[in-house]
Amino acid sequence: MFDYLIVGAGFAGSILAERLAAVENKKVLLLDKRNHIGGNAYDHYDNDGILIHKYGPHIFHTNSKEVFEHLSRFTEWRHYQHKVLADLDGQQVPIPINLTTINTLYNLDLSSTELDGFFASKGENVPQVRTSEDVVVKAVGRDLYNKFFKGYTQKQWDLDPSELDASVTARVPTRVNKDDRYFTDTYQSMPLHGYTRMFEKMLSHPNIKVMLNTDYHEIVESIPFTKMIFTGPVDEYFDYCYGKLPYRSINFKFETLDMAKFQNTGTINYPNDYQFTRITEFKYLTGQKHHKTSLVYEFPTAKGDPYYPIPRPENAELYKKYKSLADASDTHFVGRLATYKYYNMDQVVAQALHTFKKIQAETADKPEA
Ligand code: FAD
Ligand code: UDP
Repeated sequence: MFDYLIVGAGFAGSILAERLAAVENKKVLLLDKRNHIGGNAYDHYDNDGILIHKYGPHIFHTNSKEVFEHLSRFTEWRHYQHKVLADLDGQQVPIPINLTTINTLYNLDLSSTELDGFFASKGENVPQVRTSEDVVVKAVGRDLYNKFFKGYTQKQWDLDPSELDASVTARVPTRVNKDDRYFTDTYQSMPLHGYTRMFEKMLSHPNIKVMLNTDYHEIVESIPFTKMIFTGPVDEYFDYCYGKLPYRSINFKFETLDMAKFQNTGTINYPNDYQFTRITEFKYLTGQKHHKTSLVYEFPTAKGDPYYPIPRPENAELYKKYKSLADASDTHFVGRLATYKYYNMDQVVAQALHTFKKIQAETADKPEA
């Protein structure tokens, strides 16, 4: 008899499994239909012994001390600040757009103050920022929007930026200084021995049983448990009763080259050329030394595993219906797929820790009979 059946061994499920087992002494069955733990953050060594991320590049960053300290129980860290270049007709410039980007692109020598004025003169007057187009044309104007955002977004989402919520392109800021880091969070680090090792440590508790290669439908009727935590797609849980929630998927193409270094930074974005959006070279992220190098190309697609919830009003409406069912159910829904939120890893960890506190409060209210 298990106290908890947790579906999905990614961040959401694993964080909760560990807390419930270690703090509340609950017996947990954690299951995943894949053949590994870690969810989309899973990493492994490829045939040449290079550490790669099976579901695309995962760079950890957070402003939350609580989240960072929590994960630090299970891993040491390697300080890493991710940098990205955008390739525009062969010219590679920093993204997020910064002072270097503009001076290089337009052959100028602006100061930060002058760049402020430059953006003000180019930015369009958008009274109400609603879409991913609005955010960018307001901040930097149409030309830079067309160069850096329109094509990339079309490839990534198969939608024009005007059809997506503002929050999507707002993930990428604009800067008037030369800061060329992709993220500016307080904590920016990679698990020293990789994500999978961190998950292994998190889940190595005698109260946790991990079952892989198992869809929860296969066992839900036959294995006794008291409560369920679900971290898979919420529409799947409710048998798509209101129709399918749209997700975007990606085909990852991996390549290993017989050279120590391929490109000049961790990731290069290709906003306007090719069918892939970006190329990531893993050794930048992991710091691994190796005479070969492994890359991943990301080809966005409609079919395949659900990776990205698609933030736009009609999808939010549909999700609201599922959320009503979720709120009325006995099951807890946690994570990127179960709450249909375009969350980074740290946000999922924070959400799981919050759910744990909620569960603790509920259990304290209802002492066992
Ligand atoms: P998941 O990791 O998706 O875990 C859910 C698990 O549930 C899966 O393993 C799945 O197999 C399992 N499952 C689903 N249905 C069933 C079922 N019926 N039965 C059994 N098991 C089931 N975040 C960052 O912070 N930094 C990054 O750089 C970053 N890069 C990313 C790049 C890509 C290409 C993608 C797709 C995401 C990226 N993310 C990044 C986001 C990050 O992957 C997520 O925030 C995080 O992994 C979500 O964790 P989760 O536990 O909610 O979901
Ligand atoms: N984006 C873009 N051009 C870029 C980088 C990002 O248009 O060079 C847009 C695109 O819509 C993308 C979104 O901004 O989906 C968020 O980018 P991020 O790098 O955060 O995407 P993720 O790493 O989550 O795939």
